[in-house]
Amino acid sequence: MADQQSKPKHDPSASQQLAAITAEVATCQKCPLARTRTNTVPGEGSSTAEIMFVGEGPGREEDESGRPFVGRAGRFLDELIESLPMRREDVYIANIVKCRPPNNRDPERTEVDQCSNYLRQQIDIIDPLVIVPLGRHALGWFMPELRITASNGKIFRHNNRVLMPLLHPSSGLRNPEHGRMLRESIHNLRDAILEGIRVKRETSQSAQPSTTAPAPEPATPELTPATQIVEEAEKVAAIAIEPDAPADPPVNLFERPQTEEEIAAELKRQRAIEEAEEAAENETETFAVDDRQSSFF
Ligand code: SF4
Repeated sequence: MADQQSKPKHDPSASQQLAAITAEVATCQKCPLARTRTNTVPGEGSSTAEIMFVGEGPGREEDESGRPFVGRAGRFLDELIESLPMRREDVYIANIVKCRPPNNRDPERTEVDQCSNYLRQQIDIIDPLVIVPLGRHALGWFMPELRITASNGKIFRHNNRVLMPLLHPSSGLRNPEHGRMLRESIHNLRDAILEGIRVKRETSQSAQPSTTAPAPEPATPELTPATQIVEEAEKVAAIAIEPDAPADPPVNLFERPQTEEEIAAELKRQRAIEEAEEAAENETETFAVDDRQSSFF
């Protein structure tokens, strides 16, 4: 895993490595989706992004343009990113499979297995503070034991990565309650970024050789748009506290399921709720699905 704390704002080697993956994807014939695609959709964004959004696969408009999340769902994702406030160029957006499955079907397991190594490489190169799986299929690739509705906006540690799943933006477009949840949950990224910084520090400390001398303080990560958001929020919070006001009890910013046991207990309780919600949604869902990005739920 790359060292996030020493990662420069502009890393030509990371850009070159991502470009090499894009070139390899462009000619990839590893799975049958190569025969039906118009364009490959490798992903786009900052090579030093601290937030990485991951969907399942390209839709019709993505297949036509070669860019991820450019349809209605993509415009909603842009709106969510800008509400942070950040720009689309500050983050990285990718999918698990890089070619559109025909007829809006889900990708086959073998197609996911063939393609997902590209995503693994992109994650290793970008080394984001936070990965945001979008929708239940993307979440299922990272943490299949989780359910998307119950996990939306929550922060998880997984394999030394911080994940904050979100409902798919297309679900937010057609379900007002999901849209409201997304507009609220996107702001949990502040806490997720802080958790990502904490994980980087812990990883960096555990990688340091043992010595009798006191270990030096880990370097503070370089300010980038994501960490600037955290800093600005903390400044605002500090100004809002009156000097003589009694101190509030400490707040656990990362209040969430942390251990495997806690996750399991939380999931058991919420799975029944989510299954009931999904059953109700399936009964009432009558609209047509017109592109891949709209078929995730
Ligand atoms: S989906 Fe992935 S593995 Fe399949 S052809 Fe496209 S790039 Fe290659």
